[in-house]
Amino acid sequence: MVASTPPTLPNTLTIPDPPFNAVFCNNITPPQLSLYDSIVEIIIGPQKKTFTMHKGLLCFHSSFFKAAFTGPYKEAQSGLLILEDESPTVFSLFNHWAYDSSILRKLKPLVLIDLFVFAETRLIRRLQNDVVDICIWHASQNDSMDEESLHIAWRQTLRLRPLLVDLFIAQGDLSGARLFDGDYLRAIAVRSTELLRVARPQAVRPGAGSGRGLARCAGLLELQCYRFHVHEQEDPVCGGDR
Ligand SMILES: [Zn+2]
Ligand SMILES: [Zn+2]
Repeated sequence: MVASTPPTLPNTLTIPDPPFNAVFCNNITPPQLSLYDSIVEIIIGPQKKTFTMHKGLLCFHSSFFKAAFTGPYKEAQSGLLILEDESPTVFSLFNHWAYDSSILRKLKPLVLIDLFVFAETRLIRRLQNDVVDICIWHASQNDSMDEESLHIAWRQTLRLRPLLVDLFIAQGDLSGARLFDGDYLRAIAVRSTELLRVARPQAVRPGAGSGRGLARCAGLLELQCYRFHVHEQEDPVCGGDR
């Protein structure tokens, strides 16, 4: 029996550092001081933990809370809202973020995802978009989400899936993707194919797109945070998403 020659890897595998291009918006207009007005109480979780927040700030960030505290409901009269099915931990982080958005940088990936899901349910677009930006920022620091966290995130949110595909292509390791759901792997394959197909030599940065397989696809990635943002008409213009 003749032993077949194993496939050889190229001697040099040029992967720029970081391999992809990250582009951030700077749409941060701070909330106006007039929003720091009266105080409302929010009671969270089965343990009934009480939080206090400025009503104006809470309503500025969330159309859910705005509806509750300014609509024709008893909450608007009493200044008190009970949400038994939310996690006090997550709400506490939201509360911190509303006053100081820099806390996101310190959070672990799955905590960020929990916060994103909370923001999605309670209609807090700025928080959703901040989580997107922070995930891309981590990846640009070569500190991307590990494959297990990516997979858990994939199962928890539909809205973030396009970003989770790109984050995997940017830095994921296929050996870590063995247990991924089939639809996640398919989405990665489709996106990789698309990146290779639309790549034009003149559009590729020097050094980008070299290497093989996923490394080549990563080099063709442009991770513009605003592509993954959620916006409504009344939001300030950010990045290039208008
Ligand atoms: Zn952004
Ligand atoms: Zn945006």
